[in-house]
Amino acid sequence: MELYNTLSRKKEEFKPIKDGEVGMYACGPTVYGLPHLGNLRTYVFEDILKRVLTYNGYRVNHVMNITDVGHLTGDRDMGEDKVENESKKAGKTAWEIADYYTEEFKKDLIRLNILFPDIFCKATDNIKEQIEMVETLEQKGYTYKTSDGIYFDTSKVADYNKLSHLKLEDLKEGARVESNPEKKNSTDFALWKFSPVDTKRQMEWASPWGVGFPGWHIECSAMSVKYLGNHFDIHCGGADHVNIHHTNEIAQTESATGIKPWVNYWLHAAFMNIVGGKKMAKSAGNFITVSNTFIEKGLNPLAYRYNNLSVHYRKPMEWSDDIAVSASNGYQNLLKKISNLGTATGKVDLEFKNKFTADINDDMNMPKALATVQELLKSDISNEDKLATVLDFDKVLGLDFEKATLASRFNLNMTIPENVQKLLAERKTARENKDWKKADELRDKIIALGFEVKDK
Ligand code: AMP
Ligand code: ZN
Repeated sequence: MELYNTLSRKKEEFKPIKDGEVGMYACGPTVYGLPHLGNLRTYVFEDILKRVLTYNGYRVNHVMNITDVGHLTGDRDMGEDKVENESKKAGKTAWEIADYYTEEFKKDLIRLNILFPDIFCKATDNIKEQIEMVETLEQKGYTYKTSDGIYFDTSKVADYNKLSHLKLEDLKEGARVESNPEKKNSTDFALWKFSPVDTKRQMEWASPWGVGFPGWHIECSAMSVKYLGNHFDIHCGGADHVNIHHTNEIAQTESATGIKPWVNYWLHAAFMNIVGGKKMAKSAGNFITVSNTFIEKGLNPLAYRYNNLSVHYRKPMEWSDDIAVSASNGYQNLLKKISNLGTATGKVDLEFKNKFTADINDDMNMPKALATVQELLKSDISNEDKLATVLDFDKVLGLDFEKATLASRFNLNMTIPENVQKLLAERKTARENKDWKKADELRDKIIALGFEVKDK
């Protein structure tokens, strides 16, 4: 199996650290707003990655954090805490905001058939571990203090730019925007921030440096090490995390543990943009959700998953409302073809299985895998074998193919039997004659035959 590693900018053969097992960490949501389709693109991609690994026989230990503290409105440790900020706007506590949006996030995972991680961990439940890591960094001489917090000195790390592949000067130039003048280097970042003196924060903790809260990057380092160890296989997220968040996670973790590499494979999903190439972002407020693009329009949200599978995860996507409709049509057509196969399952076709496995193992080439599904459906193997094979592929695709077979299993296309039609006609006449008693009796008879009557 080959995966594209952002660290080497190459497709590499995947080799797990431990035989048959994979440790995988995925950066979770910042829970101050509804997840938009862009965020969910990244979570669908991670779900496919996990399912592909599982299909290959690995046992995947999938850990995901919930960022409920420390992510500031400016990505460079400036501005307000996103969760506290939303709490003021909404008139709820920061804890209520975080809980509410965590549940909304989980609902979207369910709607998109995204398997839950083995471990969900909240930043606020792991403050001790974060403080301990900052203490280690301090003891090893990687930190310094400013008026607003404890910072990591990036000039102490020789390979700070190894994930971004950018020149150090370019990274520094990028970081100069909204930079804190007290920082030694513009790329330095906060490990611990002091609570402001003029306002009372809702989420704050005592620490060796004073009352405050953790910097955004340290939570992922502390929790991934806690749950997956000092050296694990895969770390993933959206492409926006490469130059700052993941670069900083690597710098602080490898400095704290002294073990390199911390993570063997770094995988990133390309962005979902809105038409015109503009980034879809919660903070920009231009986001579209599963609810407002699918559910409220009566479309199946799994069409969004299907749409994601039809574009390679490293290729940027553009979103428009037309795509929701065309994705739904494409998905419904596929389900129809599968429901037409009937209900009897035969054997998984090995030739097609090999082809499908080659597609998904080539850096998750899901567009090609979907083409293989269409090829299978068009082929001349028996319907029973087609169904068995397509249901096997659905372990990776997660497109609810089994449900598609329900239509034929329960004969949903059946016509209403004559005796029931006769009772319906009699009931209609009774209602026209305002004979409500008779109409009700006839309704009971119809119900007894297994049908329901609705007057609209
Ligand atoms: P956030 O909740 O903003 O911290 O982001 C959660 C995840 O979504 C991270 O892995 C981000 O990299 C990813 N993400 C954010 N915006 C987009 C987007 N427009 N397209 C794809 N992934 C995104
Ligand atoms: Zn992270």
